[in-house]
Amino acid sequence: METVSVPEVFGSLVFNDKVMKERLPKDIYKAVVETSKSGKHLELDIANVVAAAMKEWAIEHGATHFTHWFQPLTGLTAEKHDSFITPTDDGGVIMEFSGRELIKGEPDASSFPSGGLRATFEARGYTAWDPSSPAFVKDGSLYIPTAFCSYGGEALDKKTPLLRSIEAVGESAVKVLHLLGRTDVKYVHTTVGSEQEYFLIDKDMYLKRKDLLMCGRTLIGAPAPKGQEMEDHYFGVLKPKVADFMHDLDNELWKLGVPAKTKHNEVAPSQHELAPVFEAGNVAVDHNQLTMEVMKKVADRKGYACLLHEKPFKGVNGSGKHDNWSLVTDGGENLLNPGKTHEENFQFMVFLMAIIEAVDDYQDLLRISVATAGNDHRLGANEAPPAIISIFVGDELLGLLDGVKGGKLPEFKKKALMELGTKVLPEFKKDKTDRNRTSPFAFTGNKFEFRMPGSALSVADPNIILNTAVSEALDGIYNALKEVPSDKIEEETMKLLKDMLDKHSRILFDGNGYADEWIEEAHKRGLLDLRSLPDAMPYMLQKKNLELFAKHHILTEEEVKSRYEIYLDNYSKTIHIESLTMQEMVRKDFTEGLVAYLKAVTDETAKKRAIIPDLKCAYEDHIIRVLDESEEKIGELLIKLSEDTCKAEQESDEFKKACMYHEVILNDMEELRKYVDEAEAYIPEDFLPYPTYGELLFSLR
Ligand code: ADP
Ligand code: MG
Repeated sequence: METVSVPEVFGSLVFNDKVMKERLPKDIYKAVVETSKSGKHLELDIANVVAAAMKEWAIEHGATHFTHWFQPLTGLTAEKHDSFITPTDDGGVIMEFSGRELIKGEPDASSFPSGGLRATFEARGYTAWDPSSPAFVKDGSLYIPTAFCSYGGEALDKKTPLLRSIEAVGESAVKVLHLLGRTDVKYVHTTVGSEQEYFLIDKDMYLKRKDLLMCGRTLIGAPAPKGQEMEDHYFGVLKPKVADFMHDLDNELWKLGVPAKTKHNEVAPSQHELAPVFEAGNVAVDHNQLTMEVMKKVADRKGYACLLHEKPFKGVNGSGKHDNWSLVTDGGENLLNPGKTHEENFQFMVFLMAIIEAVDDYQDLLRISVATAGNDHRLGANEAPPAIISIFVGDELLGLLDGVKGGKLPEFKKKALMELGTKVLPEFKKDKTDRNRTSPFAFTGNKFEFRMPGSALSVADPNIILNTAVSEALDGIYNALKEVPSDKIEEETMKLLKDMLDKHSRILFDGNGYADEWIEEAHKRGLLDLRSLPDAMPYMLQKKNLELFAKHHILTEEEVKSRYEIYLDNYSKTIHIESLTMQEMVRKDFTEGLVAYLKAVTDETAKKRAIIPDLKCAYEDHIIRVLDESEEKIGELLIKLSEDTCKAEQESDEFKKACMYHEVILNDMEELRKYVDEAEAYIPEDFLPYPTYGELLFSLR
């Protein structure tokens, strides 16, 4: 492994603050910084200067093109590259890039999902530069992070509402802080750190499986003799080739300014995790999208395929993405850091209660924000939090909340020392909370960790909901207290917090979220248990939710409805493709193996009996019978799946269609898989044209 100087490498391909400071005139630099911090608009003459500096810098770093990089509602990123060249009269070219080109792009948007917002005859879409997320050079192009909207100004992407929601929660937080006497705070923004899980498998094997190629997950496959039951992979020693991959991945990410920090093996065989240092919410979302892209690229180069699907293998843990979230002031104060003084403690409690209220009131939207066909396989399957949203706060905060119930606030205890019972080991302070891995929304010392997002998801959606819901709760606190004289503020705030707690304590749960008793208890408490995307989606259009989005200027009713349509459509299409892929794989690849093996055993048995007629061949007969019966059943189930899929495809109502895919097609697939997997367990690897679970999961070097 080559050695790298990380401080030199880090951000070397990013047009970051340091580069801007060096290359922009002072007043221009100031204007750009002001824009990215406070969300003010940038004038064209300033943009012209920035564009010129960006172009020079990008060319020095090997760029010949630029691209507006955006995040349409597919959940992926999109890019269209333009070169810097402008032909000159003498037959040559000069390299040009104007402020206008930096600020605004006009990709033909007709092939991106718009959920009916934009008819194809008005296919024009605009991309608009987001100066709060730095541009970077990758693969010979200057990448400019942008928002994407329609000709009519409707948001067609994930970044626009995300930026709106960050502003909304920031403004609400500032109002509340001012009320509490913190007039020193000018703005507040969110911080996000998203831990990313993934699988690495051998690329040649990957290419042999249509299900992985088309759908990112296996649709058939008998379990390997060994799964994850030995718990020997979690934090296990990194295999040299995997370590090499991770080294390259870190390096590539660092160049792009992504602060990759932690790497380790995860619970399932061949599963790994990467966690970055947290950053400003908007940048963190962009960086997570980049991380996923770079993971795939580096994997490919190293002879691996990187699987980001939430459930690539049945019976083996799937992959998630933890969204760590907090609020920070312009002075760098983390508002979710419980304080040392009474005042800090008090301020912390106000924000804590706002979050508790937000999560309780908008459970439905939070659930929807993580709902995808892939993630439905994970939630509630004893490997990830249940589909029910609840909050874990830990013993110490529970103590504080008890204080609130009694009308007064106890002080935070000093951190206890950890006693390890031997003198050689150093003493250290205990964390404020133990970990509760089963909670979907956990307080982890100085931030909340939302653990429901799936590994392939853009974290934009969960953050949009969290920001907006917390903004709403903070506004509620502000409105209830704004007329209160300052000498009465604390007393009245305590009363308000107590009322809020009484109303929302049902959402607090510190126990085992994987236990059946919790599901029962949660139902008694009236918490929502939305198992699948079709279960959850109708809540999106509820009046309270449409009002929430409209009030905070996050999404108009039309924009919400378009997203509703797109998410349903995406769900149905995903399962449709899975169904077709499964049919093809069973009909061709699996059947090829089955028929060949059946023939081999039958021929072999016949040959033996031709020599010794009264040979028992009991095991051979058993195999023949099992496979013969499977064949018949599989044939029937294939026809059923195929016919039902045609019916589902013809349904014109998006919601009914998604329900059909959920209730009928997924069940058909499950039923078919049962027989295929049973039969596959009998067939030797050599007869199958695709690799088995055992080979996929355990052969990685
Ligand atoms: P754990 O191992 O319990 O998940 P870590 O301390 O390793 O916790 O942090 C996990 C993630 O949380 C990291 O990506 C980290 O950067 C992020 N994180 C830490 N503090 C904050 C914060 N104030 N706001 C947002 N994310 C944070
Ligand atoms: Mg975590």
